[in-house]
Amino acid sequence: MAIIEAHSIKKSYGNLEVLHDVDLSVQEGEILGLIGPSGSGKSTLLRILDLIEPANGGELSVFGIDTVEERGRWLDLRRRMGMLFQRPIVFNASVYDNVAMGLRYRGASSDDIDRRVKGALEAVGLSRYMGGRATDLSGGEQQRVALSRVLVTGPEILFLDEPTANLDPGSTATIEAIVARLNREEGTTVLISTHDLSQGQRLAHRVAVMIEGTVAQAGSPREIFHEPRDQKIARFVGVQNIIPGRVVSRKEGLTTVEAGGRRLVSTTPPPAEEVELIIRGEDISLHRRKPGYEEAENLFPATVTAIEPMVPFVNVTVHCGCDLAALVTTRRAEALGLHEGIEVWVSLHAKAVHLIPREGPG
Ligand code: ADP
Repeated sequence: MAIIEAHSIKKSYGNLEVLHDVDLSVQEGEILGLIGPSGSGKSTLLRILDLIEPANGGELSVFGIDTVEERGRWLDLRRRMGMLFQRPIVFNASVYDNVAMGLRYRGASSDDIDRRVKGALEAVGLSRYMGGRATDLSGGEQQRVALSRVLVTGPEILFLDEPTANLDPGSTATIEAIVARLNREEGTTVLISTHDLSQGQRLAHRVAVMIEGTVAQAGSPREIFHEPRDQKIARFVGVQNIIPGRVVSRKEGLTTVEAGGRRLVSTTPPPAEEVELIIRGEDISLHRRKPGYEEAENLFPATVTAIEPMVPFVNVTVHCGCDLAALVTTRRAEALGLHEGIEVWVSLHAKAVHLIPREGPG
């Protein structure tokens, strides 16, 4: 069931149109990752979905309630949601009081508050800091205090706006583990915006990509990262190879495409005659000799033209009619003894060659 259903959402600030034609549905119990370049409108969309500010147009229902028709119920709906922002908001008071604050506003009894605050601090692993001053904690710990203040109110939907953008990898992993557990154990629906692609892949059951103020594609992480719908999405999700080509034929489930004088096969049905081949660098395998047995449908010789370290990987450009960038581990590159000018064999599965229609200039 959709817990949030947004349709044709628009938002402008003065003359600046920040969101347009946003369609998004969030299913109850899922973790949806909202990814996209900085400035694409992620935070603005979250502020609209969690009813902090109204859209200028479109339809939005939350918990099955039409929020445009029922403005009077926003406060009630907001009480069923929790929000965590990029910068932890903590007050100059004890960790305990920081977490209790939300419940006191809601008029809970002190026994109830005590039980719930202790439970929420336990959930974020901060019980031992309960009596300490929140502002004395590290950034990662402060974010956990802020998270436990949100959790203590038992939100049905948790909105996280770049919650780990300012945190070190260790604190990031802790926050991610708490969020994943909350989703798994309590069934809390989570909507998390992040510009960190790996975070989107690690946490999210489904990913929505925002490009220039709209949701350009939503789907499983596999779909988004391997089958981006257009060039902008492909670039954003880190596809190294976007190569113009032309469809030659289609038979037995394989499309043959010519690119730079080389023929490649793909499992994608032809989306147009003029296409772009979308190939992730990590899907390209390099070999020193022609493999004796190779199940990949594309196998051809190439020349290494550039090697660029990107620890723990190496970005290897090979020329084979067109240029292809392959991402190999540093260890594998060493084992292959790669250097510029060397001849290699390239293998590539047909299903790793995704085709999109070629876009016109501009
Ligand atoms: P993201 O979260 O993807 O980085 P934002 O939603 O923060 O993107 O911003 C999208 C665009 O909207 C940016 O150009 C930003 O400057 C603009 N914007 C966001 N909030 C406001 C505001 N309150 N007033 C004016 N412009 C805003």
